[in-house]
Amino acid sequence: MTAFATQLIQWQYKNGRHHLPWQQTRDPYCIWLSEIMLQQTQVNTVIPYYGRFIKGFPSIKQLAQAPLDTVLALWSGLGYYSRARNLHKAASMIMQEHQGQFPQTRSLIQQLPGVGRSTAAAIAVFSYGKYEAILDGNVKRVFTRHFGIAGYPSESKTQNLLWRKAEELLPSRHQKGSIETYTQALMDLGASVCTRHKPSCSICPIQKNCVAFNDNRIKQLPTPKKRSPLPKKEAIFLICLQQEKIFLYKRPATGIWGGLWSLPEINTSENIEMYCQQQLGICVAPAGSLATLDHQFTHFKLRIHPRLLQVTSQSVTKSLQGIWIKPDAAIKHAIPTPVRKLLEQNFLAEIHHA
Ligand code: SF4
Repeated sequence: MTAFATQLIQWQYKNGRHHLPWQQTRDPYCIWLSEIMLQQTQVNTVIPYYGRFIKGFPSIKQLAQAPLDTVLALWSGLGYYSRARNLHKAASMIMQEHQGQFPQTRSLIQQLPGVGRSTAAAIAVFSYGKYEAILDGNVKRVFTRHFGIAGYPSESKTQNLLWRKAEELLPSRHQKGSIETYTQALMDLGASVCTRHKPSCSICPIQKNCVAFNDNRIKQLPTPKKRSPLPKKEAIFLICLQQEKIFLYKRPATGIWGGLWSLPEINTSENIEMYCQQQLGICVAPAGSLATLDHQFTHFKLRIHPRLLQVTSQSVTKSLQGIWIKPDAAIKHAIPTPVRKLLEQNFLAEIHHA
């Protein structure tokens, strides 16, 4: 076993996490779900969502049979909704192509929608004890610092080097349970010790041989991506009020916020009244301006100008189909994060202050 693996395994036994809900099982469904939820999301945020999701869909079969809307509603607030759509799609794939049995090798797991190599490896390790290397964002940070590897970690040259490292460092196959403990140790170290900002090097089990620590290069590693500033877009979000209800429509299944319930949205140059008449079949009067809201996507920034409108009359013709719903009920649906914020800030203040 490499000294690196030995040190990490010993550290994990004493200092790592052992009581997370998905650590109490080898059921690949539970482990798959936890790995997907943990992508881009902190453990403490994931725990309640994980519990509700498992309760709502206790098996792959039940997940596959559920309407996508119900799945999205249980995911609501966790963000990155493509993860939920992919889970749902993958559950159907498991039922149809694998006779309801979760695939057992890393390469087969990796063919499920939304599952990359590292996630597939983690599922194979924790469910079946397979000898597979992981390389998620946290592990990349630990490796680039510990071994002093420069270059943006997701660039193919650096990434290939990191994968080779990840494979070389695996513990020996002879010691029972070592691959699971080692994999968990890497995750725990990246999440709680070798953190992005201010890593706790004084308590790090691999500090002695850490290149970044010894050469004072922690701030430079991992090498950041060369970024050009994100483009900025603006949009008006319409909050149409009628008998204390607001109008929401369902966004198309693909594209941004695919399949979520959202507020009607127009360009800043469009005429609000005309849009409401033509698309929603309502006449509206301004009922106030609300504070603007900024939301960042991966590829652009969106400045949202919310407009509060009172419905004055309604006709039968409209092209945008949707629902009228009270704001407190709306937030229980699968809605985009900024829409949730708008509703919480402007309609549910009394609930939050209660
Ligand atoms: Fe990370 Fe510090 Fe440990 Fe190096 S010594 S691996 S920088 S926590």
